[in-house]
Amino acid sequence: MKKIRPVLKTYVEIHGNVIALVFRTLLLFCSRKNGKNQMDNSRKMNAPFTPMKPSIRKRVLVTGGAGFLGSHLCERLLDAGHDLLCVDNFYTGTKDNLLHVLANPHLELMRHDVTFPLYVEVDEIFNLACPASPIHYQFDPVQTTKTSVHGAINMLGLAKRVKANILQASTSEVYGDPEVHPQREDYWGRVNPNGIRACYDEGKRCAETLFFDYRRQHGLNIKVARIFNTYGPRMHPNDGRVVSNFIVQALHDEPITLYGDGSQTRAFCYVDDLIEGLLRLMATPDDFTGPVNLGNPGEFTIKELAEKVIELTGSRSVLSYHPLPSDDPTQRRPDITLARNALGWEPKVHLEEGLRRTIAYFDALLSGKIEG
Ligand code: NAD
Ligand code: UDP
Repeated sequence: MKKIRPVLKTYVEIHGNVIALVFRTLLLFCSRKNGKNQMDNSRKMNAPFTPMKPSIRKRVLVTGGAGFLGSHLCERLLDAGHDLLCVDNFYTGTKDNLLHVLANPHLELMRHDVTFPLYVEVDEIFNLACPASPIHYQFDPVQTTKTSVHGAINMLGLAKRVKANILQASTSEVYGDPEVHPQREDYWGRVNPNGIRACYDEGKRCAETLFFDYRRQHGLNIKVARIFNTYGPRMHPNDGRVVSNFIVQALHDEPITLYGDGSQTRAFCYVDDLIEGLLRLMATPDDFTGPVNLGNPGEFTIKELAEKVIELTGSRSVLSYHPLPSDDPTQRRPDITLARNALGWEPKVHLEEGLRRTIAYFDALLSGKIEG
């Protein structure tokens, strides 16, 4: 053992020196390389600097983008030059609504259900995913509530992670069957919590609660739009909502299905006006959250609407009366003072003009001149 020790010592010393030498050479090589990089960088920093133009292009997510309102919103955002991610589970929406923009390289269309989390990088979120027609949202009411509530949680979670501004497509249905007329944003509403419309109404009310709690708790930049009845091209012909039903029936000279005696009222907003309102709302300063009513204050009975559609289509249709669905609101009209003051917005398209445009669309669609 005594003999081996000095040999071992020499062996370790020699090898230790070799290792140290290799290590030092490596360090020297790396530091020279770094030095060269630093020189390169300093040369770059001293070079004349051309500032990039501040870009206005944003990465925008629209949920429910293949639906009626969503597709119009997507179109406007693409026209403005933004990078758009449209997600939809195609429950009531269809790719046909986006056919004319599908080739745009700034559009990405993703099949996704908002009741599941979504991990993407975006600057703004418009949360529109939810069936809006009573026959569709009542077909699978549990899924409707999930879409509003889980959808809101998932999209708010996403907004929180990526620090995105987020807008919620809420609804005049949060006022239920109102005893205050016209409806202002500070009215809390009269909703039957366990009726057939509750899956939609309460789902949307809960989504609003979540939006304001994420604001209070996490400081999110939220915007809440309470949308009143909106109509226009790209409503689905079997959508079940009153404007599309009446126009399709009139164009086929079929009886116009009036629910109840037709004395219940609605205020109808043309889609272009509504989309302008949503865009203006998203562009408001961080301290403006809404909720803000977006709708056309012109109020009509459903019977008046039926007669107007018959007149404008020149149809031979007759009125046919059917039972009024339960909890159908009797009177509805937005007070849009807040939208006027805060967004400088009010609808421009009168009902008659909007109906003409919508009738022209359905006429072309039903005669196979356009796809839909
Ligand atoms: P729509 O049914 O045409 O569009 C809804 C879209 O959401 C469809 O493309 C549908 O496939 C999609 N969708 C539904 N569930 C989804 C889910 N779980 N995951 C992903 N996508 C889903 O209805 P719309 O009229 O375009 O309404 C859009 C939004 O505006 C809705 O949130 C609705 O509540 C709200 N709104 C609309 C009106 C109106 O009059 N049009 C009024 C008040 C509120
Ligand atoms: N309505 C009707 N006939 C129809 C479809 C709807 O009379 O074929 C009535 C409906 O009862 C309601 C109004 O029109 O009073 C608006 O109905 P819609 O489903 O368009 O929207 P919402 O009731 O959600 O406002």
